[in-house]
Amino acid sequence: MATTESSASTAHPSTVDEETRLRVLRGYALYKKRGEEVERFAPFSWCVPSCKGADTYTVDLTIGFCSCPDYRPRKVRHARCKHLYAAQIASAKRSARKGR
Ligand SMILES: [Zn+2]
Repeated sequence: MATTESSASTAHPSTVDEETRLRVLRGYALYKKRGEEVERFAPFSWCVPSCKGADTYTVDLTIGFCSCPDYRPRKVRHARCKHLYAAQIASAKRSARKGR
């Protein structure tokens, strides 16, 4: 009998497009650079600095909203901006730190 191959390792290899990948990387870069300025002001709302300049944007992780001009023209749900990713990283790091 032939064994049925269950490929659990690669779930959806082609669903993440190049633009999304770049945005995730930019979110990481932004967090690395200005992560200390990413602040939570409500359970799921974050204040995220722009990568250059003194502007800050409001990110709501529950609905996936960001107030930056980069976010607005994109009505597509999955097209998230780097601030959203930076807030997600900050959120994950903070909840991981709660254990102390
Ligand atoms: Zn944004």
